[in-house]
Amino acid sequence: MRTSLKNCKRIVIKVGTSTLMYPNGNINLRTIEKLAMVLSDLSNEGKEVVLVSSGAIGVGCHKLQLATRPTTIPEQQAIAAVGQSELMHIYSKFFGEYGHTVGQILLTRDVIDYPVSRKNVINTFNKLLENEIVPIVNENDTVAIEEIEHLTKFGDNDRLSAIVAEVIQADLLIMLSDIDGFYDSNPNENPESTMFTEINQITPELQALAGGKGSEFGTGGMLTKLAAAERVLKNGGKMVLTNGNNPSTIFDIMNGDSIGTLFATKDFVKGETGR
Ligand code: ADP
Repeated sequence: MRTSLKNCKRIVIKVGTSTLMYPNGNINLRTIEKLAMVLSDLSNEGKEVVLVSSGAIGVGCHKLQLATRPTTIPEQQAIAAVGQSELMHIYSKFFGEYGHTVGQILLTRDVIDYPVSRKNVINTFNKLLENEIVPIVNENDTVAIEEIEHLTKFGDNDRLSAIVAEVIQADLLIMLSDIDGFYDSNPNENPESTMFTEINQITPELQALAGGKGSEFGTGGMLTKLAAAERVLKNGGKMVLTNGNNPSTIFDIMNGDSIGTLFATKDFVKGETGR
């Protein structure tokens, strides 16, 4: 029932650092430019497109010519401050080439948890989308901290993208990673692994297949992607996990082609639910 993905209007696309950067720490301009073209064209078509982008620290390290990622929180936050504005500059330039304006939305968890500020955030998204501006979202790294009393961190951008999809009631979350989808074992370790084309429910058995942490520049590996998918399914949404190396596959996904792993409830797959 993938053809009904054609009807999805509000789409959140999450892109990981491993898609935006080469393993040597340089910026993958080719992929970022293609991503900007694809999202601009979807917006031209009448879709409402939101990009959740990691990469602030990676781009910051590149800008400051640091060979390794610093370990202290103040250092990381300072680098994120540099990297975030540099990343937005790159996005703004490429989206601009395709006639689109971008707007930066930096979020912390408390903002989403508190109803008044949550409403404000929703209003901002709606206003940007109404004006065909592409919101580019990240965690506000320079202020977010891990505190029990005042929880401001989302933890990882996979979760952030699922929360954004929930808050703005997106029809679809497309998660771009450095792998074609979710496999029955880590394909980088086991070449015999086979990919799931469709998952209806996140079970402990599936979680056990997720392996540990992902790539060097990546964040949470598959566990955080499954957690995001679980959240999306709970809210009646849909998620496609696919490889970000060729962003034009997003067109194929929107066309209903079987690409990556689709996470959707059985009802959707049987065609019994619209959203
Ligand atoms: P991103 O930067 O896109 O968030 P990550 O590096 O965090 O990506 O996660 C993707 C990595 O997860 C893959 O490159 C792969 O090595 C690893 N992985 C572990 N288990 C699996 C699995 N079952 N299916 C697919 N990938 C897996």
